[in-house]
Parts: sequence; structure tokens; C-alpha cells
Amino acid sequence: MCIFAPMKNDFNLQQYNSFGFNTVAKYFAEINDIQQLETLVSTDVFKQEKHLVLSGGNNVLFQDDVFDGLIIFINTKGIEILREDGNEVVVRAQAGEDWPDFVKFTVSKGWQGLENLAHIPGKVGAAPVQNIGAYGIELKDSFLQCEAIEISTGKKRVFTKNECRFGYRESVFKNELKGQFIITSVDFLLKKNAPLHLDYGNIKAYLEQNGIVNPTLQQLHNAICAIRDAKLPDVKQIGSAGSFFKNPVIEKAHFEALQKEFPNIPHYDEPNGKVKVPAGWLIEQTGPSTSSGTSWKGWRNEHVGVYDKQALVLVHYGGGNGHDIVELARKIQDSVEAKFGIRISPEVNFV
Ligand SMILES: Cc1cc2nc3c(=O)[nH]c(=O)nc-3n(C[C@H](O)[C@H](O)[C@H](O)COP(=O)(O)OP(=O)(O)OC[C@H]3O[C@@H](n4cnc5c(N)ncnc54)[C@H](O)[C@@H]3O)c2cc1C
Repeated sequence: MCIFAPMKNDFNLQQYNSFGFNTVAKYFAEINDIQQLETLVSTDVFKQEKHLVLSGGNNVLFQDDVFDGLIIFINTKGIEILREDGNEVVVRAQAGEDWPDFVKFTVSKGWQGLENLAHIPGKVGAAPVQNIGAYGIELKDSFLQCEAIEISTGKKRVFTKNECRFGYRESVFKNELKGQFIITSVDFLLKKNAPLHLDYGNIKAYLEQNGIVNPTLQQLHNAICAIRDAKLPDVKQIGSAGSFFKNPVIEKAHFEALQKEFPNIPHYDEPNGKVKVPAGWLIEQTGPSTSSGTSWKGWRNEHVGVYDKQALVLVHYGGGNGHDIVELARKIQDSVEAKFGIRISPEVNFV
């Protein structure tokens, strides 16, 4: 019988999920190097129990008070330069590196590509899973390849960008190969002299307000952090998983019918002729009647609610559990569907 010494039993995951739920895992194994992972896959616990790979826990919703299986917590560290010339650099980060710190590091080196993804909580290894995106950029724009271990065989495999099948908050790791691979490192191709992406959201307005005309890479990074801080909850204070729902993409005919009824409906045309509608706006337009109007935005009960600065964010104020969030999410989905005929779907991974 093979034993993995650092394995813990009945482990409370409150510090390991950004909703802050008190879910208890039957088994918990922290992986600090690849050899430990190789040992773990040969243990009886690994072979007999269901598993969940967990990084920062910023995009998971534990629905129950108990996780009846093994949590594989990835905490491997290391950053190395694989190739560099006057124009670009290829850099490899181990899966357990903190994402915001890694972005800070690339910016401090003057390497461009990840700055608009600053301040997204989580770890490097989870970033390809949902092709993280923000401020007009997605992970795939700087992604070169990643290395992963197949859980059933323990074999290493390299995934190219094409093989990852990235889409809007999607990848092969969230769909066809869900739960089958542990990403162990990610390689990025970063530029040294590329134009900055300033056109999205309120980046330009923020820079203007702060008297910044031609921002440096560092100034852009800092601006993104400040903008995000102003509109998203600090998960150390209020539990959340960031945007709970994806922005729905609907048929043009459906959108045109909605636009007749709701002339102010915000939208973005998609390359395939469809139309993306911000889920936050849809949620804001529906909801229970309260003294401050009829909207989910800012609604709360004792334990959970909808963040008052961004309706896309469901929050946990403490004392609740995953069921409370699931129930709230379903009510929101129902009311958006009843008014707009759109069923919004979660971005967060339900466990
Ligand atoms: C306040 C806040 C703001 C956010 N803003 C954004 C945003 O702007 N854009 C955005 O895209 N996301 C955003 N998110 C979501 C979240 O930050 C990202 O999805 C992030 O990549 C999650 O990283 P994590 O390490 O916490 O992953 P986890 O939550 O631990 O895991 C997420 C999923 O990936 C799987 N997984 C984790 N690590 C690995 C691995 N090494 N190999 C294989 N599978 C793995 C897990 O099983 C799980 O299914 C936000 C979240 C919060 C709380």
C-alpha cells in the first residue's frame, strides 16, 4: 500500500474557497512538487476516491457541507525564461504560482500581454481552464502551451493552444476533458514592444481622470487594479467568485426583438453574427420589489445576496452555504428568462 504522508483528513476548506463556505473535505493533499503528485496518484485514496483539483478556489462553488473525496491542492512554484530576444520572451510558470503576482512580475520586466488580466484572483494552473479574460484580453492571446498530467494514467501531455479549444470562458479542460488532467505549468509568449490595449471599458476614462496621457505598461497595470478594486468585492471581506454568470450570446433576430422593447439594451456584436448581452444588465432589470426599486442588484437576505456595485456578482455575507447561492442563482435565472427569454448560465464551477 502506498502512503502519501502529507494527506489530511476531514479538512475544512473555508480558507480554500473564495465564497468562504465551511465545506469539509474527506481527504486533502497539498502538492508542492511534481514528485509528490506522482506519489499521490499511486495511493489507494487516490485510486478509490473521487477527486477535485483545487488551486485558489476563486471559481468553485461547493454546494454541500461535505466534499466526499480527495482535494488535490496545487501549490507548485517556479518561473523560468525559456527563450528571449529583443522583441519577445517565452516564460514558463508552475501551476501553483499566484496569478496576480505573476502578472506583476511580467509587468515589472516590461513584458506585455498579461497586464489587462491583472488582479484576477487565482493561480496560474487554473487560468487556462476558463481562458480567463478581462478588459478586452483573454489568456489565449498570450498562451503558448501548457503541460499537464493525465489523472487516470499519470502520463505527461503537452497541450498546444489549438488543443486547448479556448472559447469565451471555456476550454477543453472545462468540457470534453473536465476533471481528466492536472495542468502543471503554462508557457506564455510575451512581447516587448507591442501597443497597449486601452479601448475596453473605462480604462481611458480612468487614465484621463488621473492625468495620464501615454500610459506606461506599469501605469496601465495599476489602472486596471484600481478600476477592479472599485467595482469588485474584496474576497477577504465578502465571499464571492467574481462574475457568477457568463454574458449570454443570442441570435440576432432575438436581439432585435428585445431591442424594440428595451431600446437601451447594451450589446456587443460577435464575429459569428450573434449578439452578446451583458448578464449584469439583464439581472439589474429584474428582481424582487424593494424600497429602492425592482432589481436584484443590491438585494440580500441574512447570508447571501447580489453585490450592490455589480449585479453579476453573487456574494456570501457569512453563515450561509452553497445551497443558499444555488437557490439565489436559480431565482435570478428564472426571472431573467421570464422577462427576456434568455437562460443565463453560470461561469462558476459547481462542485
Ligand atoms: C473577485 C473575483 C474577480 C474575478 N474576476 C475574474 C475576471 O475578471 N475574469 C475571469 O476570467 N475570472 C475572474 N474570476 C474568476 C477566477 O478568478 C478565475 O477563474 C481564476 O482563474 C480561478 O483560479 P483559481 O486558482 O482560484 O481556480 P480554482 O477556483 O481553484 O479552480 C477553478 C477550476 O479549475 C480547475 N483547476 C484548478 N487548477 C487546476 C489545474 N492546475 N489543472 C486542472 N484544473 C484545475 C478546478 O478543478 C476548477 O474546476 C474572478 C473571481 C473573483 C473571486
